[in-house]
Amino acid sequence: MSMRYEPVIGLEVHAQLLTKTKAFCACSTKFGNEPNTQVCPVCLGLPGALPVLNAEAVHLAVRAALALHCTIRGRSRFARKNYFYPDLPKGYQISQFDEPFSEHGYLEFEMPAPNAAKDAKAEETPKVVKRARILRVHMEEDAGKNLHDKGDESIVDLNRAGTPLIEIVSEPEIDNSDEAVLYLTELKKILEYIDVSDCNMEQGSLRVDANVSIRPEGTDKLGTRVEIKNLNSFKSVKAAIEYEIRRHTEVIESGGKIVQETRLYNAARDTTQSMRSKEEAHDYRYFPDPDLVPLILKQADIDDIRKDLPELAHQKRARYVSEFGLPEYDAGVLTADRSTALYYEDVIRAGAPAKKASNWVMVEMLAIVKEKNKALAELFPPTNLAELIHLIDSGVISGKIAKEVFADMISTGKKPKAIVDEKGMSQISDEGAIREIVLAIMSEHPASVADFKAGKDRALKHLQGEIMKKTRGKVNPQVANKLLEEELKK
Ligand code: ADP
Ligand code: MG
Ligand code: ZN
Repeated sequence: MSMRYEPVIGLEVHAQLLTKTKAFCACSTKFGNEPNTQVCPVCLGLPGALPVLNAEAVHLAVRAALALHCTIRGRSRFARKNYFYPDLPKGYQISQFDEPFSEHGYLEFEMPAPNAAKDAKAEETPKVVKRARILRVHMEEDAGKNLHDKGDESIVDLNRAGTPLIEIVSEPEIDNSDEAVLYLTELKKILEYIDVSDCNMEQGSLRVDANVSIRPEGTDKLGTRVEIKNLNSFKSVKAAIEYEIRRHTEVIESGGKIVQETRLYNAARDTTQSMRSKEEAHDYRYFPDPDLVPLILKQADIDDIRKDLPELAHQKRARYVSEFGLPEYDAGVLTADRSTALYYEDVIRAGAPAKKASNWVMVEMLAIVKEKNKALAELFPPTNLAELIHLIDSGVISGKIAKEVFADMISTGKKPKAIVDEKGMSQISDEGAIREIVLAIMSEHPASVADFKAGKDRALKHLQGEIMKKTRGKVNPQVANKLLEEELKK
């Protein structure tokens, strides 16, 4: 019988901090400008230029570390990580090495329980919470970027050089590619919720290195790992990890050995290839940066940053269940990203009932967001949705008409009340008026009336349909049906 193996995964995530200026100089961090228009002697590494640490970057880094339950060190240090590459003008990257500013945190994510049926609906799958420990979070600066798409020449764009990053390093205890994606989804959600990073993966604001090894199932000793560098989508993370697990298993089962190395993922071919082996690995010759004093963080300041942390996704989610009485499923969907949660809360604040507001946001609004690729708040203000729900609840329009009004709100941006008034869409609820319509329909369709009296129930449906057709859906259907049955039984 052949041995079974289990994968072990550890993730290193680089997130760009949302500062206006770079980590050690006053250059802008804005994305997408002409190459080398956001540079100065400091980030160009010119002789004699001295770095000055950006206080806002420190603030955001501490905020992230606290949201990840890390311990903050009162005193930490910046180190020089030395290597040569065209996009690194100083010949070293300022990072943190043996004294990071924070360590020993964790994040929690939900995943399907081990025996959960694979085909169950998302609402029904039993879930368990996994806690993944975080080894450390440290600050560092980004390098520049080599561009190879400018005609015959390659150029180096240093606009990004010196941009502040945090690196979040997990313990090697993520069990498979699905867990890796859940870990990253939760981490991204936290960083977005606390406004520390925009986590825009296409623009490189969030980049992932995945470390993968395998070991015989049930054993403790870690196998030899490879590191897959610079993954820029969750899809690549998943595919690269799965590819490596297959490769490791094949190598080991055929009697070979995994070499510790850095690899790159090629999405077009869905394989990884070696970038450098451990023997060629850089000796970074880390040493404390003599241009920067140790970073001292006072307990009172750390406490202030902690107090200032906003409500996070999982906290909102619990509150939506306890305070608004929403089903777990709704709470999960509404808090999946912060802009949806804040929009939803504004709809509630404008007076809409919680579950009805949830249905509209979750179903109608998110569908439009997807279709139009726009943010919720760009569609129409949350007060308009509350007004629409109120028009339905107070019987002014039916649910069916509401869908039409909604479509109009999307295309015109007008308020629902104005649309209803302009188009004369309000529902007829007056019993006298509805009875007249019912009687008119009955006299127009004597055959159906006779059918009903002969016991054919389908005739009732037909007459109901005719009433809706005649009124273009504007009568209150409950009242109309009640009156129709009354008249038919006379
Ligand atoms: P380095 O500084 O060389 O990148 P670290 O010890 O800081 O090495 O580890 C980096 C990442 O690799 C961490 O996320 C850690 O969890 C992961 N890791 C370490 N050993 C293994 C292993 N054997 N298998 C999988 N992941 C590992
Ligand atoms: Mg590493
Ligand atoms: Zn600069």
